[in-house]
Amino acid sequence: KSFEDLNLKRELLMGIFEAGFEKPSPIQEESIPMALAGRDILARAKNGTGKTASFVIPSLQLVKPKVPKTQALILVPTRELALQTSQVVRTLGKHLGINCMVTTGGTNLTDDVMRLNEPVHILVGTPGRVLDLASRSVADFSECPLFVMDEADKMLSREFKNVIEQILSFFPKNRQTLLFSATFPYAVKSFMDKHLTKPYEINL
Ligand code: AMP
Repeated sequence: KSFEDLNLKRELLMGIFEAGFEKPSPIQEESIPMALAGRDILARAKNGTGKTASFVIPSLQLVKPKVPKTQALILVPTRELALQTSQVVRTLGKHLGINCMVTTGGTNLTDDVMRLNEPVHILVGTPGRVLDLASRSVADFSECPLFVMDEADKMLSREFKNVIEQILSFFPKNRQTLLFSATFPYAVKSFMDKHLTKPYEINL
C-alpha cells in the first residue's frame, strides 16, 4: 500500500512526501481509510508508530479550506504535545491553505480570543483552555464534524474526564470521533461505549 492509494488531495500528498514519508505505517494503513470512510476509531498504539499522522492526515483531508470554521478539534493532555501535534498539522498541511491554532493553559487567554477572530480550521489544545474558549463562545464547535483525542488514557484520568465530557457537549451529535490511547483502562472503555458509534478498533 502507498499513500497514493488512499485518495488524498494532491496538496496533502505533497506535504506527506515532503515530510519524507514514503509509505503508510501499519497504523496509518488501517486508520486513514476507516477515518475517511467516516468511521469512529479506537486505536491502541504507542508513540513511535506514526500515530500522530494517522489522525492528522484524515483531519487534513476532511477539512474544507474554504469553509471559515473550526472543522476539527485535536485534544491532547499537555502543552508540549499540543505544540508537537500542531507542527505535524502544519508540515503535512503546508500546501492546503488551512489555519491551525494551538491553545493551552499557561498562555494569555486574551491572545487566544483575538486569534480566534480569524478562521481556525484545526484547533489543537489541552482540555481546560478549550473548555474555557467554548464556554465563552469564542470557539464554536456546534457544527464541528471531527473530534480527535490523543493519549486518551491520560486524558480520561479523573481530573480531565469531566472537562472532556463538557467539551463534547458543545459538539453536534453526529460528529466523528477518533480516539488514540497507549493503554485501554476502564475509563477509556466506558468513554468509548458512551461516545463512539460502532468504533473500528485498531490494536498495534
Ligand atoms: P509518532 O508515533 O506519531 O510519534 O511518530 C513517530 C515518528 O515517525 C515521527 O518522527 C514521524 O515523523 C515519523 N513517521 C510517521 N509516519 C511516518 C511514515 N509513514 N513514514 C516515515 N516516517 C513516519
